[in-house]
Amino acid sequence: MRIAIIGLGVVGASAARSLARAGARVTVFERTAPAAGTSGTSFAWTNSHQKDPLAYHELNTAGIAEHDALLEPGADWYFPTGNLEWAAGPAGNERLAAAVSQLRARDYPVEWITPARARELVPDLRVPAEVTEIAWYPREGYVLPVPLLARLWGEARDLGAGLRCPEEVVGIEERAAGVRLALASGEAERFDAVVLAAGRWTEPLAASAGLMIPLADPDAPGSATVGFLGYTTPVPARVGRVLTTPRLNARPDGGGRLVVQGLDLDAAADPANPPAPDGEYARRLCARLRELLHGTEGARLDALRVGRRAMPADGHTIAGFAGGGAVYVLATHSGITLGPLLGRLAAEEIVGGRTSALLERFRPHRFAGVDRASIAPLTPARFAGQQ
Ligand SMILES: Cc1cc2nc3c(=O)[nH]c(=O)nc-3n(C[C@H](O)[C@H](O)[C@H](O)COP(=O)(O)OP(=O)(O)OC[C@H]3O[C@@H](n4cnc5c(N)ncnc54)[C@H](O)[C@@H]3O)c2cc1C
Repeated sequence: MRIAIIGLGVVGASAARSLARAGARVTVFERTAPAAGTSGTSFAWTNSHQKDPLAYHELNTAGIAEHDALLEPGADWYFPTGNLEWAAGPAGNERLAAAVSQLRARDYPVEWITPARARELVPDLRVPAEVTEIAWYPREGYVLPVPLLARLWGEARDLGAGLRCPEEVVGIEERAAGVRLALASGEAERFDAVVLAAGRWTEPLAASAGLMIPLADPDAPGSATVGFLGYTTPVPARVGRVLTTPRLNARPDGGGRLVVQGLDLDAAADPANPPAPDGEYARRLCARLRELLHGTEGARLDALRVGRRAMPADGHTIAGFAGGGAVYVLATHSGITLGPLLGRLAAEEIVGGRTSALLERFRPHRFAGVDRASIAPLTPARFAGQQ
């Protein structure tokens, strides 16, 4: 079976690996460079927080388990270190308590610990005096997206998968048997099937095949799709885990660097006006970092990026065949948590003909006949524990 994949982010790399393992002849088309899209600018926390409905929570917990299964001695891409989270004020504490109860009811590992125990886990942590309870999620962790992509794509390449890069797919046409891809170079190529793993660019690409795959506008300022990500200079802080706190989220990024987010600041995120790495928002993130961790005095940001989420219009993963059956769509938020799992399930469906029960609630045809304008805008993530 000859299969094309459009896009070499984490999702496309995972599909390439699993399809090549299943015996398909895989060609990936990537317009810019591997990890040029959202995968290269992500907080990359593996979690299943506030993922509703239950089917979406189960998909994300299976996503974490898939990372565990991929883990090897010496792995440089996945760190199942656990996550510490606390809230601020009565409303925040209530929100966190409700989230923890819901996760417990779902048998998701979480426990309340004291600030002293939290400092054993993260020695340089500074916990505000008013915080007495911290939620500890031992099954969570983080990914370094580019090393993960290297792990997935490297195996696909070893198994014979080919990469056409830079090469943009400008049109998809389903034929009686298979698909015809039109390329920006003017060429056209035929395949038995195509996997759309084009992230936030999926909607126009699908439209070229006459398919409606609605995604939230990835460029809308202050919306649910956009968010700042600060990349710090190396700091001598002992913080080996994910922290999701009211004023700052932080995770290690290798070599002593951290990735930081202040979700309430994201209301000002605008891809058309990227902030300076030494401007107001950078200063605010660095001040919050000093509040959160010893060892971060004098920390600066090497970069402050505006991340753009690949967000299906209803917030949930889109996975499955669309149209006549030669076009398979993989468009999702939480694509770092879900990438390895979605690639495997897609390959089982495309090559093995085995339908995945986990994906049943997430099929593209749920949008058939839906008036695009009637889909309500998504609520932006503004509190610790959301993403
Ligand atoms: C601020 C922020 C925080 C996030 N935090 C988390 C988190 O904590 N945990 C988590 O799991 N997820 C998180 N995510 C989401 C996650 O990063 C994404 O879901 C994931 O990276 C999407 O990967 P992808 O491979 O689908 O898309 P992408 O990485 O965008 O890859 C798509 C690729 O397709 C290529 N392409 C597009 N169109 C074409 C074309 N026509 N022809 C050829 N190539 C094309 C692009 O160049 C790109 O390389 C976050 C995202 C953001 C923005």
